[in-house]
Parts: sequence; structure tokens; C-alpha cells
Amino acid sequence: MIRLVHRAAMLALMLPAAAIAQAPPTVARANAATSAAAAAATATIGRIVASPGYAKAVAALDAGHDRWVQNIITLTEIPSPPFKEAARARAYRDMFAASGLSDVEIDAEGNVLGLRKGGGDGLVVVSAHMDTVFPEGTPVKVRRAGDRLFAPGVGDDATGLATQIAIIEAMNAAGIRTAADVLFVGTVGEEGAGDLRGVRYLFTKGKYKGRAKAFFSLDGGGLEGVTVGGAGSKRYRVTFRGPGGHSYGAFGLVNPMAAMAQGVVDFYKIAVPADPKTTYSASVVGGGTSVNAIPREVWTEFDMRSESAEALAILEKRFLQIMQQAAATENAARSVKEGAITVEPKLIGDRPAGRTPPGAQIVQFATAAYAAEGIPIRFEAASTDSNIPISLGIPAITLSRVATGGRGHSLDEWVSVEKPGNLKVKRLGLATILATAGM
Ligand SMILES: [Zn+2]
Repeated sequence: MIRLVHRAAMLALMLPAAAIAQAPPTVARANAATSAAAAAATATIGRIVASPGYAKAVAALDAGHDRWVQNIITLTEIPSPPFKEAARARAYRDMFAASGLSDVEIDAEGNVLGLRKGGGDGLVVVSAHMDTVFPEGTPVKVRRAGDRLFAPGVGDDATGLATQIAIIEAMNAAGIRTAADVLFVGTVGEEGAGDLRGVRYLFTKGKYKGRAKAFFSLDGGGLEGVTVGGAGSKRYRVTFRGPGGHSYGAFGLVNPMAAMAQGVVDFYKIAVPADPKTTYSASVVGGGTSVNAIPREVWTEFDMRSESAEALAILEKRFLQIMQQAAATENAARSVKEGAITVEPKLIGDRPAGRTPPGAQIVQFATAAYAAEGIPIRFEAASTDSNIPISLGIPAITLSRVATGGRGHSLDEWVSVEKPGNLKVKRLGLATILATAGM
């Protein structure tokens, strides 16, 4: 019955799409508006890539290729574990200052900020993240084999940081003046437990709060993919507690381990939609005191994700019910004379879901820039710094930082620094950013 209720909720989620299908005039109007926006974006991108300024900037990207490679190595070899990005932040601040940005600073959260003043017609934010997933002590020396660089974090997102510097230097070399001011940022806390704390601070507390009209994160890989959807996540640590006791002498008392196990098993019975992609995992576990003691306390960490805020909310609600039910089931199954099982779910990660609409100008500019390079664009969803602006209704996309790479978040992480593909990636980013900032 529980699953039926859940399926019904999923059906309700699908209703809006069905309603749209029954309303062709609205769709036709939306399509017409989108194709007009697409034509305008194609014209803008065409004008920019044909301009002498853009040609100069592209020549600078070409001439700066070796410096880009060196910056990747330099930044990768400064360890930047979660919550310990300060050393890399200082080096990145110095790179911003050397590149001629103004108002260069490290903000109260640890983000590095630098402004490239334009005509003052609004503010466009471009960023890459400084933190890695790797703990302190992970060896970060870069090994080069042919065109490939190997090291933990070499791609994600040291390459994004270096690509950002390359774009700033190319704009400078060409003397490009944008209509909007452009704020370049190295963020902290994008990965894991960082929970987007850097970009969250930037948009909700920092001094540029309320000013951005568009946002880019350089944090994707490959030539075709552009992230327009933010997969949201809810992460919990759930602690089950009980009276404990001797495993032999106190046999028959409630056991928090049994409640937790029941909770995990029931959690894995939840049916989730494939589209919008919605997933879950029970990931880390701990607790207990001794093999011959009924535990007083055990805990598990859970991860739930979806491209849809609604689907994620349904999943989270069901998850919380299941955890309470698991404790109740154990309290009914064994003696509570020394105390009952309690359950405490603690939210340890909360990333909003959302999607920048296909008709948004920033998406249209990216699509036109890709078309101008003859590359078919592919829209993707992922959890990146763009989640925060998207959740605030600010158009945001995550662009590629490198043409080829792999094994992200592993000790074997690598990127290829071959020139032609990576110049293409930088041209795509540059054209999209210039169109959005106004050139
Ligand atoms: Zn990343």
C-alpha cells in the first residue's frame, strides 16, 4: 500500500506534462518565443565570433596554452581538502591580482573574488571551485604521460580554475569591454559536505548578493555537455538510540541495530521515477560498543537526489516516515522495559534541485556558440555550484573546463591537455560568456 501511495504521488508529478500536451496553443506560443530567442542568440554569437576582438582573444588562448597547462599543475599541487582550501585560495587570489582584475579579495567564507569592470550594465558571475574531495595527506604531485596529466583533483576542478584564468587573460589581451561587469570567483565547499557553502554565501550573504543576472560554473568535462539542471540532494545522518545492555544477560531488550537495519531495508523498497532521475543510497554506517553488548547507539548516512524538487520532497518525506516506522516496529517487537528506541534524523546536506529553462538567454547563447563550432550540444543535470543560483531563479549553467578527462574523484583522475580540443572548449566558454555579458 505504501508503494501504491508513492506511485500515485509520482503520477501526480507527471500530470503537468500531460496538461501541457493538451494545450497546444500555449506550446505553440512557447515554441515561437523560443525560436525567436534562438534566432537572436545565433545572430549575437555570429557577430561576436566574427569580431576582431574575439579573434584576438582566441589568438591569446592559443598563445597561452602552455601557461594554462602550467597553471593546472601549480593549482593541483596545492592540496585543497574540504574545508581547508585556504592555501590554494591565496595562490588563486595572487593569480587574479596578476591577471589585472580589480577588487581582488578573499571573502569571509573563503571564496576568492575578482572584478573585471565593464559598462556596469548588471553583473555576470563566472566561477570554478577550489576544493577537492580528497582528505589531507593525499599525494597531489602531477604525473605527465604524453598529453595526459594524472593527479587527484587535476580535473575537478583545478582545470576549471586554470581555464577561468585563461579566459580572463584572453579578454584582457583583446581589450574586450563587456556591457556588464564580470565577477570571477574561486569558490570553496562545492564538494560533498561542503554543501555548496561558498556559492551559497556569495548569493545569500556576500557583498555582491542580489546583483548577479547570470552565473557560469566551469566544472564540466567533455566537448558536448552543458549542465542546465541542478540535481538536488538531501543528505541525512540518522541516529538510532536505545537502552543498551548485555547481549546475553539482557537479551530481549530492543536493539537500535535492528531498527536501523529495518529502516534501510524498507528505504530500499521505495520506487522512484527514472525521469526525472531520482536516486537514493544508504552510504556510511557506524555505532555499537562491543560484540557482547546490545548497542546504545548506531547511525547511518543517507543520500537522496533528484532533478525534480517535487520528486525529492516526496522521497524525503517517505524516508523520514520509514525511519520513524522502523523505530516503532522494533519497539513493538522487543521489550522496552529499560527504555525505547528513539530515532534522530539530522540533515547534513541540502542542495536545491532545479533547471534553467531551455528558453533562457544563457542557454540560447550556449546553444548558438556550440552550433557555431559545429558541436551538438547536450543538456545534462548534475550537482554543481549552479544549483544555488538556479534555486534563486538566476539563469545559471555549468560549462566544460576540459575536452577529455576521466576517473574524477579517484586517485587515478586525469585530464588530457591536447591543444585543439581544449582550445575549442575555451572558445565555447568565451563566446557564451561574452554574449551573456554583452559585447
Ligand atoms: Zn567539481
